[in-house]
Amino acid sequence: MTKTKTFGASGVQVPTLGQGTWQMENDNARSAIEALRAGIDLGMSHIDTAELYGSGRVEQDIVSQVIRSRRERVYLVSKVMPSNASKSGTLRACEQSLERLGTDYLDCYLLHWPGRHPLEDTIAAFEKLRSDGKIRAWGLSNFDVPELERAVAIAGPGKIACNQVLYHLKQRDIENAVGEFCKQHNIAVVGYTPFGRAGFPPGGAGGKALAQIALRYGATPRQVALAFLMREPNFFAIPKASDIAHTRENAGALQLTLDASDLEAIEAAFPRPTQQTSLPMF
Ligand code: NAP
Repeated sequence: MTKTKTFGASGVQVPTLGQGTWQMENDNARSAIEALRAGIDLGMSHIDTAELYGSGRVEQDIVSQVIRSRRERVYLVSKVMPSNASKSGTLRACEQSLERLGTDYLDCYLLHWPGRHPLEDTIAAFEKLRSDGKIRAWGLSNFDVPELERAVAIAGPGKIACNQVLYHLKQRDIENAVGEFCKQHNIAVVGYTPFGRAGFPPGGAGGKALAQIALRYGATPRQVALAFLMREPNFFAIPKASDIAHTRENAGALQLTLDASDLEAIEAAFPRPTQQTSLPMF
């Protein structure tokens, strides 16, 4: 598995496997910080957070501690809430995230999902933040194809670094249209909730297929799942783990490259939906 890939329009190399931080405010903070730091050392230095998480507490109490003394080694992503995403609201929200995180720049700043404020205004704020050096790139999250088309029309080509979307073995909808659109427009696809949060490994034929492939490589079903979800040249994954043993297991996915017969077995056990639905989100 390639350890880094070009992150869409940002043009920079970013770890293929990152780390999420949603709901870490409910976990033991020391354990979460230790797990995230270990993940950075294992190559998962793409850290995903948001002003929404714990109403800022995840940025302030956890991620700020994680990046302290290793800021330059981290690819730091945060998100503005749609309710704050007017032009002035986005500028303010970014300043507040930077303050909580104890840093003077974000590597990438995302709109968490499409909202009521005109996208033109959010994008204008992103571009100002970029020219002011507060962010190095910007992207979107939970954007379906029609919304992506609008964003490209407003921003122009080559501006959008990524689209962060729900993507796990039982939720492959994004492969039908969003993934293809992003590939054509050089937008990284960052898959969130790669384990579907709970209920992993799945039972039945799916669980059996993952276990068989894992056995062959001396890997685990979670590592196989992550390797599958990151198989495309523009696909990234951001599992969340507050337990260092989980972090270590997830990092092991970077050692795994699935062959054509593995991909076929996973395709058969977790079929891609044939009908186009609206973009699912968590
Ligand atoms: P997830 O990564 O699919 O699952 C997290 C759960 O899996 C946690 O309970 C974690 O336990 C457990 N886990 C992780 N690795 C494990 C392992 N090796 N063995 C056993 N259990 C393991 O779910 P998620 O947190 O929803 O998604 C990941 C990240 O995506 C979020 O944290 C967030 O940063 C981002 N996200 C973005 C959006 C959006 O709208 N843009 C929405 C949802 C999520 P422990 O914590 O106890 O280790």
